[in-house]
Amino acid sequence: EKIGKSSTEIVKKLFDMGKFATINDSIDFETAEFVALDYGITLELKQDTTAEDKLNELTHVEYGEEKMKRRPPIVTIMGHVDHGKTSLLDYIRKSNVARGEAGGITQHIGAYSIEVNGEKITFLDTPGHQAFTAMRMRGANVADIAVIVVAADDGIMPQTVEAINHAKNAGVSIIIAANKIDKPTANLESIKQQLAAHDVLVEEWGGDVMMCPVSAKTGQGVPELLEGILLVAEVLDLKAVEDCPAQGSIIEARLDKGLGPVATVLVQNGTLHVSDYVVAGTCIGKIRSMTDFTGKRVKEAKPSFAAQVQGFTEVPNAGDKLVVVSDEKLAKEVAAERAAKERIEMQNRTAGAKTLEDMFKNVSDEEVKSLAVIIKADVQGSAEAMKQSLLEISDKMKDDNVKISIIHSGVGAISEGDVNLAYTSNAIILAFNVKAEPKARQLAERNSIEIRYYRVIYEAIEDIQSALKGMLAPVYKEEIVGHAEVRATFRISGVGTIAGCYVTDGKVARTNKARLIRDNIVVFDGNIASLKREKSDAKDVASGYECGIGLEKYGDIKEGDVIEAYEMIQVKNE
Ligand code: GDP
Repeated sequence: EKIGKSSTEIVKKLFDMGKFATINDSIDFETAEFVALDYGITLELKQDTTAEDKLNELTHVEYGEEKMKRRPPIVTIMGHVDHGKTSLLDYIRKSNVARGEAGGITQHIGAYSIEVNGEKITFLDTPGHQAFTAMRMRGANVADIAVIVVAADDGIMPQTVEAINHAKNAGVSIIIAANKIDKPTANLESIKQQLAAHDVLVEEWGGDVMMCPVSAKTGQGVPELLEGILLVAEVLDLKAVEDCPAQGSIIEARLDKGLGPVATVLVQNGTLHVSDYVVAGTCIGKIRSMTDFTGKRVKEAKPSFAAQVQGFTEVPNAGDKLVVVSDEKLAKEVAAERAAKERIEMQNRTAGAKTLEDMFKNVSDEEVKSLAVIIKADVQGSAEAMKQSLLEISDKMKDDNVKISIIHSGVGAISEGDVNLAYTSNAIILAFNVKAEPKARQLAERNSIEIRYYRVIYEAIEDIQSALKGMLAPVYKEEIVGHAEVRATFRISGVGTIAGCYVTDGKVARTNKARLIRDNIVVFDGNIASLKREKSDAKDVASGYECGIGLEKYGDIKEGDVIEAYEMIQVKNE
């Protein structure tokens, strides 16, 4: 209708092009463009805006510096089992919550806020990094600072290293809490040394990581730790806008028998109010009521504060991003779109698992390709040996713009933490004479994380080497497919210059690349924009035939020029 042509005419045109369509069919943009071009009309593609786009527009508002206010730091506590994470969180909670509130603090909603020297700090109170990585897995890393607890009588243990790597990988600031200093066997110097061996240099050793000796039992050093957190927070200069629709993350969620779905929302920007319409992942809701960690009802929650909310129609996932939307309709549309997308992703995920072979397909445009690996071995010696060998390979291949990054290496069975880390860092896991814990194996299967088991190191090295070769950027070779001689030129308004040609050898295809050669000099190298044989579009034209060729964005074609058609063919890497 718009181009003033009847459907019959267009159907016929399509038929001439070898496409059988009726008036009820859809055609892709390229075909439509082709047809329109034939009538001298240029089409422009305008994508439909999705509800998600609308939402993005609403949420990605730039606020001026004057609207930004300081917000409290959000802190997560990580570390090896039994090193005192829970004890430390409990001690801080008991000793730093204002007296009037103390009675009510029996509730664990996933986070609590304390006040130190008139400033607030919010702690995520699910110790360990399960919560932390589950959140990161969905791209919602909420912590600003990770306090890594190390028992000073025990030293750096596998989960300590894991925690360090998690924190580094997530780009959050690290503070070391050297715990249990009340014990006579506590040895701080040894901790500093062990940390240095894992690339964590404490301030006393010229590094930039703060280490606070503490006792979660006696409380010694805890005030200094809290002050340290405030100091780091000040350097981070954490800011948010209070006065705008809220955005945050779900840090806990469950179905309560009496209350229905309840979820704890950590607000990251804006202020969350009762009666707000929200979307979190594929769930929607209208906030009915909110309570803080003391169990007190609140009407709003400001940046860096958590509130347990009611009003979701379903239970959202921990880690989901939450946004406040203007109305219910948009919330529903966004949720429906996401659910549809999730279904497709699920299908794709199960169809194409993450394996060593196809890991890099998606990053082919990046300059340096990197293979992320996690090494788990039965003894420290083999983990080290493997690490060294991989670094050597990586070094050798750096001229090929390929590198191996070792995200984590450790001793012992593959844990859920390893699998989570592999997920977030897009890594594969190499296992030497170790197995995966059943839960870790299931998690890996569910998320299509590849675990490769080896008994000897050289097998692993060979495997990685061949994977890296597959990762090398594909090499293309040019293949000339034909030549055409320009015998006349025509200017067509709206289209440009068309060369009337005679194909002298081989053939010329619409999809070929072309070079325009004049007196043995290449004057143009690019794409063929159009190819016609006797007025209709042609896929290819063989030698001995005449045709019309248009070159993409190039009009300076002269009689006697030669058009050389060629193709780029991918050759396998050696
Ligand atoms: P988590 O697994 O890291 O959460 O460790 P817990 O907080 O459960 O602590 C493990 C054990 O260490 C418990 O028996 C605590 O009582 C003890 N513990 C924790 N902190 C300290 C401390 O500072 N000094 C001493 N002596 N014991 C501690």
